Amino acid sequence: MKTIDRIYINGQFVTPHGSEKFDLINPSTNETIGRATLGDAEDARHAIASAKTAFQTFSISSKQERSDILQRLHDAVAPKIDALIAVMIEEYGAPLQFAKASMQMAANSFLHAKDVLQDFEFTRHIGKSRVTLEPLGVAGIITPWNANVSFICSKLATAIAAGCTAVIKPSEMSALQTQLLLECLHEAQLPAGIFNIVNGRGDVVGAELTRHPDIAKISFTGSTVAGKTIARDAAATLKRITLELGGKSPNIILDDADLTKAIPLALQVAFMNSGQACVAGTRLLVPESRLEEIKLLIKAAVEKIAVGDPRSADTAIGPMVSKKQYERVQQYIKLGIEEGAKLLIGGNGQPAGLESGNFIKPTVFFNVTNNMRIAREEIFGPVLSILTYKTEAEAIAIANDTSYGLQAYVSSANIERANRVAAQIIAGRVMINAAQHDPLAPFGGFKQSGIGREYGVYGLEEYVEPKAILI
Ligand code: NAD
Repeated sequence: MKTIDRIYINGQFVTPHGSEKFDLINPSTNETIGRATLGDAEDARHAIASAKTAFQTFSISSKQERSDILQRLHDAVAPKIDALIAVMIEEYGAPLQFAKASMQMAANSFLHAKDVLQDFEFTRHIGKSRVTLEPLGVAGIITPWNANVSFICSKLATAIAAGCTAVIKPSEMSALQTQLLLECLHEAQLPAGIFNIVNGRGDVVGAELTRHPDIAKISFTGSTVAGKTIARDAAATLKRITLELGGKSPNIILDDADLTKAIPLALQVAFMNSGQACVAGTRLLVPESRLEEIKLLIKAAVEKIAVGDPRSADTAIGPMVSKKQYERVQQYIKLGIEEGAKLLIGGNGQPAGLESGNFIKPTVFFNVTNNMRIAREEIFGPVLSILTYKTEAEAIAIANDTSYGLQAYVSSANIERANRVAAQIIAGRVMINAAQHDPLAPFGGFKQSGIGREYGVYGLEEYVEPKAILI
């Protein structure tokens, strides 16, 4: 049982003013593995004051100074990747393969930001003016439990590249992961106040960051519901906001696709991180003429999917992060049946032998129509809906008939055709015959999947404000 009773302000581990305790539960066993003391609004205000003071000098730091800091942060985090993977699995049950990819991405994000910084022109000449891109100020960074460490690292790296200082509010469910990461970040010996970390609840510490006049920008990753609250609260002080929110990503299998590749890929993207991924491809759009063939292939493949101990390299699906999330997914499976969708495999209840953790049977529905709630709402669990289409145009129309627009997938033997379809899909990223991450390409959503972009040049531009000087 671990105790987390410090937050990080002005380069020091300090006892929070807040006193609320928050239990940390291993979702594979439902045993309590830790207890965190949460910070409160007063702690948030102290952290903001520290970041505001640090901004005065950090905002005028050189590219070289920022590059050195980013390198130091990378060098401090990279040797601890194995320990970070272990705690990510313990605290939220991420399957080993996902945890590995996530932590590699976290450490590398400092190097990617350094590369982007190298080529970024902070001074440009436009018309008759000299335009300087000025760091915005103190950034409030708010992260979700499903990618807490990697978003702390990538958002902090971008803020630093821009010359901003930061107050970070990690997910309250990720205190063990945050603590280990924080120990690494502290080892990098940054000037005090550049980053501050306050554990706490969203509606307490997160809300204080969102409302405080000394926070210039909020970079938030989490649910669409919380994102809307933040947008409303941030409007009072006209903060800049980057919101990375939920998704209901379509995966179109075109009628010429090689199903021996497209089906494993479809299951990989639907069930990634046990289905608890904002970019999960949870609406599988298949040609009506190939439905029966696809059903057979999917059923056979899902029967072989390993559900269980997330520490095992063979496990594809681990537990849901919490009892609450487990119940939510069970409710959606029940709802799908009530709405008239047919179960191809899976269903309510737990896989045999896994009753002590929050495990769900990987579940695939067919006979799903796009007006059903299971096709419209983010479930955040291993539940896949198969929808059929007759023509390419209909597939695109169904794909776009959603309030979200984060990511989409297309499988086809004809790349030209796949590109034509991708061009018509309203989503921040479209993957063709692939599931991969490009750390330099913009990432973010259309519609209710968010506002703004992260990573690469587009990500950095979100932390600066142009100033034109005319002589
Ligand atoms: P959540 O919205 O419940 O919480 C996210 C963070 O916001 C937490 O730190 C929480 O404490 C904080 N928060 C909650 N209410 C707040 C408020 N009123 N003001 C300020 N902060 C507040 O989300 P979650 O359950 O942690 O994460 C899952 C969600 O995140 C899913 O919807 C998923 O799609 C989304 N997500 C999106 C991306 C993306 O890049 N688009 C990536 C990962 C997760």
